Amino acid sequence: MSAPGFTGAGIDRADHLRLDPERIIALMAHEGARLIALAGLDPVLDDAGRLVWSALDGQAEAIFLGLEDGAPLFAPLVRATPGQRAWSVFGLLNRMAARDAAIWGTARALNEWHNRHLFCPSCGAANAPFRAGWGRKGPACAAEHFPRVEPVVIMLAEHDGRVLVGRQHQYPPGRFSALAGFVEPGESIEEAVARELFEEAGIAVTDVRYVASQPWPFPGSLMIACIARAEDDALRLDATEIEAAMWIDRAGIRAALAGEPDAPFLAPPPYAIAHTLLRRWLDEEGGTS
Ligand SMILES: [Zn+2]
Repeated sequence: MSAPGFTGAGIDRADHLRLDPERIIALMAHEGARLIALAGLDPVLDDAGRLVWSALDGQAEAIFLGLEDGAPLFAPLVRATPGQRAWSVFGLLNRMAARDAAIWGTARALNEWHNRHLFCPSCGAANAPFRAGWGRKGPACAAEHFPRVEPVVIMLAEHDGRVLVGRQHQYPPGRFSALAGFVEPGESIEEAVARELFEEAGIAVTDVRYVASQPWPFPGSLMIACIARAEDDALRLDATEIEAAMWIDRAGIRAALAGEPDAPFLAPPPYAIAHTLLRRWLDEEGGTS
């Protein structure tokens, strides 16, 4: 069973070391310490498609990512305009090993968070990183702030052996994917799945079940993949969110995931959890409602 994208970093995050500045300084001076190379917030890859790492070279400040076989791994703190993302990063992700994508995704999400929290959300004063890059606090108030992830539900509605896929206006030509949306305050995962499917496609669902999750570092989401049973297959699309949607049977999903030229749509890439979700649905025995 294929693991979701951006998972499997396989490093010890060593949270207990983060609040020990002297240990962190010693780890930065460790002969095996390595710093991930970033171009802006994008990964830098060598000819083999692997992440490029360098020595720390007297770097004053860095995010401590964790330990890999005893070697401390760091990421630079990069000043960048939050939320900017070139489409070219997805071409790089197509070439990256899952483990590399997971480590880089952590570095990217943390840098996005830092750049969005240069001022204290409580009092508005400028603040600074602490906890080896896993928090920020400032001199003006006692508030401490910690990196956040934003939960997003992404889901398939299932009806009579078919699942619903849709496309947003900005997708590449032919691409369809699972519908998705942010979990709102006051909502459970199940309630968010039902609300989003009803809002975007006019579909009422029951029996929401969790399938898998993945971090998504654009800028810092946790994608929660679910399948729900649709009571009816009549669609009523929200045209501002969804350009088109359609029900696809197993043969169509199989063809799309295999990249066959006559497939009914272009599948999401393997590092996206929508790909994992479609594959898990195919792998289920029966799977029809
Ligand atoms: Zn403050």
